[in-house]
Amino acid sequence: MCVEGCHKAVQKAIARREFIETAAGVVAGATLGANVIEDATAAPRNFTKAIDLTHTLNKEFPTYGGTENYVELEKIYTIEHDGYLMYKWHITEHVGTHLDAPAHFSPEGNSCEEIDVETLVTPLAVINVKTQAALNSDYQVSIADIEAWENVHGRLPDHCCVAMNSGWSDHLGTDKFRNEDSQGSLHFPGFSIEAAEFLRDKRNVNGIAVDTLSLDYGPSIDFSVHVAWLLSNRWGLEAVANLDDVPPIGATLVVGSPKIENATGGPARLIALI
Ligand SMILES: [Zn+2]
Repeated sequence: MCVEGCHKAVQKAIARREFIETAAGVVAGATLGANVIEDATAAPRNFTKAIDLTHTLNKEFPTYGGTENYVELEKIYTIEHDGYLMYKWHITEHVGTHLDAPAHFSPEGNSCEEIDVETLVTPLAVINVKTQAALNSDYQVSIADIEAWENVHGRLPDHCCVAMNSGWSDHLGTDKFRNEDSQGSLHFPGFSIEAAEFLRDKRNVNGIAVDTLSLDYGPSIDFSVHVAWLLSNRWGLEAVANLDDVPPIGATLVVGSPKIENATGGPARLIALI
């Protein structure tokens, strides 16, 4: 998109903007008190806080496979030379805080752009299994954990996202986040297949989320939770951040999903509104 004369045009535009701003300042100063424009009526803001549930993604962020993740910003235009800065991204889909679209495991499942946007704004239910996970790295969220949560907070609301808070994001930056043993097996918590099937079949849940690298617990070799969940054309979220900062129920999750045609997932910006 950089055409000849682009740099000059950008400089001209910047100079013109500065001129307009200065002129506007003078006019505003001269007419202060006259022509007061009232605020437009904004939609009511029904939340008091926005919490970022997203880790910053960079080359150091660990991957499930243990290989160096592929996040590279290649500078293709510079302000000095072209008048604006632009990178070409080289990136794999399932890195950092990210979305698993159904198409990740399901040949018939929705790819990113096909996910109904209505499902991406959901009540957020957070199940805290930090105590269990501290005692057992291979802990799997059980039906009993869901029932214990419901005994305190009530039945899971329709169209919600159920997130596991295992405390694992505290291990980010250490080997414990992947927790690979000498046989190459990983050890971190996830959902049990029974819990995933319960949420799929007995409750009305849009998505499940984890603060680890996989919906399945670390040692899984059959990815049964991924299969059971994504084949039902629901989405998942992995490596979610800051779940300690949201209540067990009451927040609304906004999944800023990438909308790239045919994508099976990708880095997402997750925002919890409280
Ligand atoms: Zn994934």
